Amino acid sequence: MRKEEPLEQEAMPPEEPFENSLRPSRLDDFIGQGSIKDGLSIFLKAALQREEPLDHVLLYGPPGLGKTTLANIVAYEMGAQVHITSGPAIMRPGDLVGILTNLEEGAVLFIDEIHRLSRPVEEILYPAMEDRKVDIMIGQGPAARSIRLDVPAFTVVGATTRQGLLTGPLRDRFGIVFSFEYYDEPALLEIITRSSSILGYEIDTPGAGELAKRSRGTPRIANRLLRRVRDYAQVWGEEKISSAAAAKALDALQVDVLGLDRLDRALLEAIITKYKGGPVGLETLAATVGEDAGTIEDVYEPYLIQRGLIARTPRGREAAPLAYEHLGLNKPER
Ligand code: ADP
Repeated sequence: MRKEEPLEQEAMPPEEPFENSLRPSRLDDFIGQGSIKDGLSIFLKAALQREEPLDHVLLYGPPGLGKTTLANIVAYEMGAQVHITSGPAIMRPGDLVGILTNLEEGAVLFIDEIHRLSRPVEEILYPAMEDRKVDIMIGQGPAARSIRLDVPAFTVVGATTRQGLLTGPLRDRFGIVFSFEYYDEPALLEIITRSSSILGYEIDTPGAGELAKRSRGTPRIANRLLRRVRDYAQVWGEEKISSAAAAKALDALQVDVLGLDRLDRALLEAIITKYKGGPVGLETLAATVGEDAGTIEDVYEPYLIQRGLIARTPRGREAAPLAYEHLGLNKPER
């Protein structure tokens, strides 16, 4: 069965061309994530000076924070080609052998959702990452033999949502590891202002600030909301997006002052009203709100935890005092 898309994606056209047009291609244009940028710029310079490919890079973080963008930037800055794939797309070991043996010298291989590679595929990747070799089996039965092939020098950029999802041996093969943080409001404001100038629709600073506040710390959401708010502003006959127009449009989109959407609020409400504030297990919660548990864990919960609205305890999820305050509900008697 197909997983339900997060609510904010409802009734929206495919956004990929739009996303690509907004992707910064140089490290200097990548906004926020200061410590990642500082580290990466040193490692890139060092690799370029030595005329070697960059060491393999692992990127952790919730969706929409810029992992794909950064992989493309690595390729751009190294003057290398980028090949984009994902864990679930590489079904058989032979698929990966095909990709590896066809890479250009120095290429960047971006593997999104790298934690979803199957074990046999991972086993092909290890020697390729370490020694630029792949072992393939020729023939069948007693006549079968294994031969080693060379693969070109390359850099794997792997992306995954959570630290715990990767197998130890795979994690150990990455020399560079970065964890993405949610973006603060000044960084989002800068991203929104940049995107609106690419879109050719003006937004003033307070308008961009209003959007930044409600973007869940996530550039992808900021860009998506910007596009929707522009639709409203345009139909309302506004020449530019002011903070009043942004606030009105965001209210109409049911994105509240903390940037929570309907599902975020449904989660908080379920914990508070159905489970007396928690703790309640993830699976139970998922069934209650009708969303996939993995999506809640990867997409919704990290932001709610980061904002101090829920806490993850060994016995399940609990609503924090701020959640009661935000929804205007009283803490139930125990
Ligand atoms: P992820 O791979 O982590 O899901 P993406 O790299 O696809 O996220 O980023 C989603 C969108 O957000 C892209 O369209 C990109 O333009 C924008 N974006 C992400 N990070 C930044 C950033 N640091 N500066 C500017 N835009 C960004």
